[in-house]
Amino acid sequence: MSDTPLISTDGLSVTFRINAGAFKKFDLKAVEGISIDIPKGSFFGIVGESGSGKTTLGRALLKAVDISEGTATYDDGEVQYDIGSLSGAELTEYRKHAQLIFQDPYAALSPRMTVRDIIAEPLEVMKITKTRTETDERVREIAAKCRLNLEHLRRFPHAFSGGQRQRISIARALVSGPKFIVADESVAALDLSIQADVLNLLKQIQAEMGLTFMFISHDLSVVAHTCDHVAVMYLGRIVESATTRDLFAQPRHPYTKALFSAIPSLDPDDRGKAQKLEGEIPSPTNQPPGCKFHTRCPYAIDICKSAEPKLEKSPDGHAVSCHRWEELLAESAA
Ligand code: SF4
Repeated sequence: MSDTPLISTDGLSVTFRINAGAFKKFDLKAVEGISIDIPKGSFFGIVGESGSGKTTLGRALLKAVDISEGTATYDDGEVQYDIGSLSGAELTEYRKHAQLIFQDPYAALSPRMTVRDIIAEPLEVMKITKTRTETDERVREIAAKCRLNLEHLRRFPHAFSGGQRQRISIARALVSGPKFIVADESVAALDLSIQADVLNLLKQIQAEMGLTFMFISHDLSVVAHTCDHVAVMYLGRIVESATTRDLFAQPRHPYTKALFSAIPSLDPDDRGKAQKLEGEIPSPTNQPPGCKFHTRCPYAIDICKSAEPKLEKSPDGHAVSCHRWEELLAESAA
């Protein structure tokens, strides 16, 4: 992994204008003020509950939704893109470099297309290959990398298990030769035994092809075995960001600690210590003032209800947005 970022964002926000009747419109802030660097060759995890904005962030980096404020750039050393301003032919070019692996391998694949045609489609739409022979060669090459048998290429998706379908989705995402992949809950719909197989495949492909992954998940235990770095999102903001090792060794934000507590433990002594996450994540259309987590935080004090904490980075690179993180860390160490 390099220190040079492939993707950089500065104050990235995504706001959707919602029409709620003839004269009623309101803004939904799905993502707000995200500043991150995703190093080349890294497996960068984004974790949070449903409604935390992680999927919207991933889609903004693929220009599948518009960026309302701030910037996002892609720079692989050969080509650079200002992602927010992309449109037309330039956006099509960018899509060769940045692709999405979908969450649901059952819904993502057209039942009427053969596996060969599903994988070949991006090559044809983006006019990457010139002849059918060239397309077939590329499809066979990427299918082999994704551990698909060549005889599978003639079949339709219904003939395959969930894990095999996800390998077809991965092959389709990789066929255009991208450098940046957004994997959005890419193993969430799979059985546990298959999840490990698909995660291993993603790691192997990343190493072989030198790819950079944004790996979006609600599940910290999946992220632990996959990612180099993890950013935790809550209500559209990053509340904690650190290397996976640092985050798992010493989580600093009360929300991150609550997510850790939700990981089932095999140790019966640990089960009683779980810090339960009470209540629901607030609606992005009706966000609380101050720290967005204060309505669920067991450590909230007055200042938390009025002043939003900044995301502050320590010299060790571990960043956290909480008024009380140092105090809470000292208490837990005592
Ligand atoms: Fe909890 Fe206050 Fe820290 Fe927010 S700022 S996480 S409410 S202690």
